[in-house]
Amino acid sequence: MIAFGHSSTGVIVGVGAVAVAQSGASPSLVWLLPATVAIGVASHYLCDAIPHGHYHFSSTHPTTKQLALFALDFFGVVILFGVIALHKFGLGAGLWLIAAGVLGAQLPDIYEAFVDLRILPTNKFSEAHRHWHWAILHWHHLRGPRLTKDTRALGWWDIWQVGVFGLALWLLVRVPSR
Ligand SMILES: [Zn+2]
Ligand SMILES: [Zn+2]
Repeated sequence: MIAFGHSSTGVIVGVGAVAVAQSGASPSLVWLLPATVAIGVASHYLCDAIPHGHYHFSSTHPTTKQLALFALDFFGVVILFGVIALHKFGLGAGLWLIAAGVLGAQLPDIYEAFVDLRILPTNKFSEAHRHWHWAILHWHHLRGPRLTKDTRALGWWDIWQVGVFGLALWLLVRVPSR
């Protein structure tokens, strides 16, 4: 899945958490926030296992075009959801729960990028995570396990990622603000 798809799934997870927070149970944010991040992480792996395309992006040597596309795909969509959530919940719990969902849903890719950029070390865990993430979950890659030309290009079937984005937008607009 590309960034906006994961952000969208994160928003859906966050809206679910908002609904739990608003329920009669009204659980403490102390456990609801980390639980939302964890479910967001799970949503990342689940979505990556569904056949999807990518655009080529080099985290170490991106071209200007790749950077522009990534800025829109990642920051553009996160800012859009953030503005709607801020408008709706102010700086209240709702905003933090949506943010927790998106953070969790992006965490596996942020981790991979930090390893590539040498912000985090390459070690046995990072190697195992990469294999699990790129070779096992992305079983639908065309030829090889690396996110290179071997990856499936974006195509008409990726309309499902747009569908997830639309659903996230609809749920976020619709969830009661308190
Ligand atoms: Zn993917
Ligand atoms: Zn991924």
